[in-house]
Amino acid sequence: MKTIGLLGGMSWESSALYYRLINELVRDQRGGLHSARCIMASLDFADVEALQAAGRWDAAGDLLADAALGLEAAGADMIVLCTNTMHKVAGAIEDAVAIPLVHLADVTAQAVTAAGLKTVGLLGTAFTMEEDFYRDRIAGHGLQVLVPDAAARTLVHRVIYEELVVGVVSEASRASFLAVIADLAARGAEGVILGCTEIELLIDQDATPLPVFATTRLHAEAAVRLALES
Ligand code: GLU
Repeated sequence: MKTIGLLGGMSWESSALYYRLINELVRDQRGGLHSARCIMASLDFADVEALQAAGRWDAAGDLLADAALGLEAAGADMIVLCTNTMHKVAGAIEDAVAIPLVHLADVTAQAVTAAGLKTVGLLGTAFTMEEDFYRDRIAGHGLQVLVPDAAARTLVHRVIYEELVVGVVSEASRASFLAVIADLAARGAEGVILGCTEIELLIDQDATPLPVFATTRLHAEAAVRLALES
C-alpha cells in the first residue's frame, strides 16, 4: 500500500473528514484490520486565510510547497491537497516535489464525465467560483461550468468562512445552499460540484434531487485507488 500525504488544515474540519474517509475506504476494500497508510501536514488555517485575504498567493504557494516537501521527506508517495481553493497554487507544489499531486479538479471532472453530465454548477469559495484556476481546469475536460449569481456567491463564501470552517452547520445555511443549487438547476445545471471541502458537512445527496459531486469524498476515493493499485 502506498502512503497518502495529506496536506490539510484548510480547514481541519474537512481534513478530519478526509482522514475518516480514506481509512473507511481502505477498510472496506482490504477488510480485517487494514487502515490507510497516511501522513498529514496540518497547517494553521489562520495563516493561510491571511495570505488569501492579502492576495499573497506566492507566499501561500511557498508555504504549501514547503509542507509538501516535508510530506515527501517523511515518505509520502503522493500529495493530496485537502482544499479546492488552494489548488490555485497547485503548480508551486508540483514544482517542489517529485511525487504526484492528485489534482482535485481533475478527479472531480472525471466523476462528472463518468456520470454522463455536460453542464455542472459549482459552489465553493469566491476564489474557486470566480477565478479561472479551477473552472478552467474543469472546463478543460469538456464540461460547461455554471456559477451562482453575485449575491449567492457572497452568501456561499460567507457561510464557508464564518460557519463551516469553524464547525458550524446550520439549518438556515443548508436551506440557503439548497436554494442556490435549485437556481443553478433552473439555469441548466445537470449536477452540482460541492467545490469546497467543507460543503459536504452541510449538503449531501439526500438533500437534493440534483446529482452532487462531493469533492472531499471523490478526492479520498482517488487517493485510495492510487494507494491500493499495484
Ligand atoms: N476547504 C475549502 C476549499 O475546499 C476552503 C478553505 C480554503 O480556503 O482553503 O476550498
